[in-house]
Order: sequence, then structure tokens, then C-alpha cells
Amino acid sequence: MSAPPTEITAIRSTAVGLAKAAAVAGQIAVWRLRGRPSEPGLRILAYHRISRDRDELAVHPSRFVEQMEIIASSGLRVIDLTELRQDSTIENENTLALTFDDGYHDFLDYALPELHKRRWPATVFVVAGVADGTVRFRWYGSDRHPDLLNWDEMRAIEKEGLVRFEPHSLTHKILPTLSEDEAWREIAGSKSAVEAALGRETSLFCYPGGYYTEREMHLVARAGFTAGVGTEYGPNRTPLNWYGLRRIPADRYDVGAVFRARLHGGTDRPPLGRPERATPVPARS
Ligand SMILES: [Zn+2]
Repeated sequence: MSAPPTEITAIRSTAVGLAKAAAVAGQIAVWRLRGRPSEPGLRILAYHRISRDRDELAVHPSRFVEQMEIIASSGLRVIDLTELRQDSTIENENTLALTFDDGYHDFLDYALPELHKRRWPATVFVVAGVADGTVRFRWYGSDRHPDLLNWDEMRAIEKEGLVRFEPHSLTHKILPTLSEDEAWREIAGSKSAVEAALGRETSLFCYPGGYYTEREMHLVARAGFTAGVGTEYGPNRTPLNWYGLRRIPADRYDVGAVFRARLHGGTDRPPLGRPERATPVPARS
């Protein structure tokens, strides 16, 4: 079987990234013209890297600071995803949660100081085998693989009380392409590995690349997770779809006006011509 796409946006070129950014800007312009229709709910932002590197998964540190300032001035409450419950306030007000995928070291350098400044909680989804150093992300060449957080650093960050590290599989394989046994190992195995390393229970699972089907939702529930996060567009509203929580990408091309619109529903629907799910589920062979 040919290799499935690896990460949401990692292999797209800058040209494709800019074209997508233009489509998002158009989408937001239409949303404004239509009177900014949006439903209240919890919007979960999905970041990967915060870095000056020319990497489609990296938001520049100065842009990230600008985005945090926009959130602060928006008045939106930033909630801790691990404390999410069936809460009526999620239905009635716009709230925000911050997530960072893959456990890159630049989270410590650039994101953490901003979170501390504002006492905002965040969740970082880590790939156990990558944190162990036994697996590398294959969308980076060996000469340009970013540094990753190690378990000591994660434990030290958790002690400060704002950030939690939660499982994002063992090896970042695309789960729907695996046998059920293999998918179970990636899901339940990463729960055990992260819990052993951090010395506490974990509750949230992040589907690699945002790919999942009903099968993965059941496996994540069976493994004892409270919730699973994917990459569908839109706000989360009660009754929550616990094993398919929606997330909105925070993109390196998001200028202030685009980012501001994302927070209030400007990108709750897929951009024109894109499927409802940010990443189509590959068929099992
Ligand atoms: Zn990932």
C-alpha cells in the first residue's frame, strides 16, 4: 500500500499554503458580508510549532504573540480542555481552548511564556515513541527535524500547573489504515506510556493527522479516554461529540483580521471547495 499523507499540512508547499490562506480570507469576507453568522460554543485552536523556521506547521513567534494579544483583547474565556464537562455554559457563550500537537520543543521557548503571562491553560499532544526518541516524524528530513520536548521537560512544565501533556499515539501512524490490533496498540499503548512517564492519568486523545472513523472513536473510549480531538471545522456545542471534538487550525498565514475572525466563527465552515473534515479519511487496504 502506498503511504498515506502524514500530517495535516506538513508536505504542502508554500504556494499551496498561500492559496489556502487566500481561500480563507475570501471565506471570511463572505462571512462578514452575511452579518457574521455563527453559533456560540467552545472553539479549540490547534497549533503545531511556534518557530521562525520555514515550516508550514510553524507559526512565527511574533505572529503568535500577536494572536495571544488578540485573544486577550477578545474577552473570550480560555478553558482547560482536561476539565471539560457537560457544561451548559459551553452552549451559551463563546469559549476557547488552546492545543499544540506533536510536542515540539519550541512550545517551551515561545508558547509557554505567553501562557504564563496570562495564566492560560493549554494541552500539548505528544507522540510517546517520538518523545522517547525511538521514532522520528517522517515529514521532516533527518537534517531538519525539529527538537522535541523530553519527558523531564514535560514533568517540569506540568509542575507549574497550567499545561497538560496528553497522548497523540505511539508512532503517529494514520489509525484508520491500521488493523484493529495495531490501532488499539497506538491508542491504549500511548495512554499507558504517557501515564507511566508523567505519573498520572491521561484523559484526552488526539487522532494523528486528524484521521479517525467510528472504530477509532470506540477504541479511544474503550481505552478509558474522556474525549478525542480531531480536525473538523466549527464550534463544539452541547451535547458534545466527546470522541470527535472539533478543532480550528491556527495557521502561519493568519494575519490579525483572519485570526480574529476565526475566534468568532468566521471559519466554522470549511473553505469553499474543501470537505467538512479537514483531512479525508483514507481507506483501509
Ligand atoms: Zn500530529
